[in-house]
Amino acid sequence: MNNNSSDVQNKIDTVVTHTGRHPQEFHGFVNPPVVHASTVLYPDVETMVTGKQTYSYGRRGNPTTNSLEEALTEMEGAAGAKLANSGLNAIALAILSCVKSGDHILIADTAYGPTRHFADTVLPGYGVEVEYYDPGLGDGIRSLFRPETTAVFTEAPGSLTFEMQDVPAIAAAAHEIGATTLMDNTWASPLYCQPLSLGIDLSIQAGTKYIVGHSDVMLGTIAASERVWENLDAFCGAMGSHVAPDDVYLGLRGLRTLSVRLERHERNTFTVLDWLKDQPGIGRIRYPALESDPGHQIWKRDFTGSSGLCAFDFEKGTTREEAYSFLNSLNLFGLGFSWGGFESLAIPVRLKGMRTVTQPDNDLQSVRLHIGLEDPEDLIKDLDQALKQSLK
Ligand SMILES: *Cc1c(COP(=O)(O)O)cnc(C)c1O
Repeated sequence: MNNNSSDVQNKIDTVVTHTGRHPQEFHGFVNPPVVHASTVLYPDVETMVTGKQTYSYGRRGNPTTNSLEEALTEMEGAAGAKLANSGLNAIALAILSCVKSGDHILIADTAYGPTRHFADTVLPGYGVEVEYYDPGLGDGIRSLFRPETTAVFTEAPGSLTFEMQDVPAIAAAAHEIGATTLMDNTWASPLYCQPLSLGIDLSIQAGTKYIVGHSDVMLGTIAASERVWENLDAFCGAMGSHVAPDDVYLGLRGLRTLSVRLERHERNTFTVLDWLKDQPGIGRIRYPALESDPGHQIWKRDFTGSSGLCAFDFEKGTTREEAYSFLNSLNLFGLGFSWGGFESLAIPVRLKGMRTVTQPDNDLQSVRLHIGLEDPEDLIKDLDQALKQSLK
């Protein structure tokens, strides 16, 4: 942003367009350069030993990484932001930055599967006790607090099953005992939810999804509140965390069109779901932006938009063979993990053994859809023919 606009509170679309760019520092070019660098030279030994230079060494950042970090800091209303080499790496770094041996961390039962895998396989070895909680607890999470509880991890909506969480209530309770609050905000992106304004200290994004937006880069981001920023910055520095500038540049490039892409993802999703909900064989639709969704009121209160990721259950009695046949019959929807790119995707939802506190119905056949930027009428035709071919 130009310095003379710093006292004006611009709307998020304007922020996304201008943030993190300083054209006059780079001969007027609109975008920052992709700086490939390890060594940074100093003009004299005095500058070197006093460290009075913006950049010191490639690992500690360069104009490309700073540009994206600055953009995220502004969009999330944060004290600062760090990049990570994947969304999962951002989650791991954020959690490790705020727990130590003897601590207890509370993690939503509906957190992204690999988050649970990290917590279950890495944290106990460092003496950190992991406990999962019902994402619907809200303020009731207090009953699980212990003197050694130092971190509370949230994710809304929940992975695969799309439960919303009362993040402000959880964050307020956690702050009363001095715990650090974390949120995986990948679904809404920083455009449609700013977790720090809900009381979150560490807001995490799988930048791989909507920020990059083109299914071609792995990236993670962590934005930090004033309370924890210095600690996060020091921790990521100590860990030697660094993301390659070409990938960061693609993150920056994706960010500039985040708003127009998300608007279309959202519109297409509403169009497809509006059709899907009335089809024979279809049970519950899982998408908090729908009025019929149990999390709708919270979504309306805390989020300003919705993205293209949703799920639906087949009616009870649908067999796994039928669900798999439906997935195999799709032509425009690719079968692939991840999401957030321009294209539509589908996966079977398999919860067996994934949850330890809530009780998902393991006999229910469900499908997660990512609604891409195709014409929604073509997506509907594709879903229609697949349903007709597969449901008996
Ligand atoms: C994909 C995803 C992640 C992990 O991101 P990667 O970049 O794939 O490591 C974390 N959280 C959520 C909600 C995700 O969908």
